[in-house]
Amino acid sequence: MQIGFIGLGKMGGPMARNLAAAGHRVTGFDAAGVRIDGVAPAAGAAEAARGRDAVITMLPNGAILRDVYAEIVPAGRPGSVFVDCSTVDVESARAAAAEAEAAKLLAVDAPVSGGTGGAASGSFTFMAGGSPAAFEKARPLFEIMGARAVHCGGPGSGQAAKICNNMILGISMIGVCEAFALAGKLGLDPHSLFDVVSSSSGSCWSVNTYCPVPGVGPNSPADHGYRPGFAATLMLKDLDLSQQAAAAADASTPLGAHAAALYSEFVAEDREGLDFSAILPWLAARRREP
Ligand code: NAD
Repeated sequence: MQIGFIGLGKMGGPMARNLAAAGHRVTGFDAAGVRIDGVAPAAGAAEAARGRDAVITMLPNGAILRDVYAEIVPAGRPGSVFVDCSTVDVESARAAAAEAEAAKLLAVDAPVSGGTGGAASGSFTFMAGGSPAAFEKARPLFEIMGARAVHCGGPGSGQAAKICNNMILGISMIGVCEAFALAGKLGLDPHSLFDVVSSSSGSCWSVNTYCPVPGVGPNSPADHGYRPGFAATLMLKDLDLSQQAAAAADASTPLGAHAAALYSEFVAEDREGLDFSAILPWLAARRREP
């Protein structure tokens, strides 16, 4: 395929490289002038998109996505597929898809789970929203850039799945960290707690795969000074998106709201850009509120 790729940052760069390495002809554009080996540079977003079979975007937020779509949709070839892999608000995803579909383009929102490691190794899970025809056209590209793609429904469904998943993750990580902080103050060995929880009803990804205690459980950012991994700033972004969506949909999400407030406080104090599991030492250092 002839592919246009816009946004060649920490995630987009390795994704574009993997597509080129798989034999596709990739033309890329990034506002910061980033160049990627094997990817032909374009002078602008419209040039990267013009006449391609597929156009992929990997951008910081919904406002930038909407600006970029205003440029690239008129340059799209009818019948080609526009795939947005950024994490953005559901409303912007739906607006971008509507704009693309009005121009006879196929559109998929397909945010990812897997972080920068997943981008490099091509082991992402894509959560995709769009018509069945759009999903089928994008599927071969998902198979190169990731390990799994789940078609979640119509436009915006991929973003909806992503923020719901990450709202669970933010809440569960805080719950796990509270339990280990409490255990520490009760004099309980964290290895013992890990052995119990990881095989009991408290087990979850935050304990079993990504244990936030250094030296306990499988290798995780906690074992590397809490270097990300998945930065707390990105968790805060996703929790804020979940609360924006919950407000728009009139959904009650009290724990999601509390998780967003705690990560907001943590990020305001976090000068090192730590992993989201670093909320453990932060919580452990706090006293109980009266
Ligand atoms: P990044 O900041 O490294 O990359 C974004 C790139 O977009 C930058 O290189 C920037 O120059 C470029 N850009 C900004 N405006 C542009 C424009 N108008 N035209 C062209 N290029 C433009 O961010 P990232 O970590 O690669 O994240 C990208 C997306 O992936 C975000 O939506 C993020 O939430 C999501 N995401 C990131 C991670 C992660 O671990 N980094 C994990 C899951 C999802």
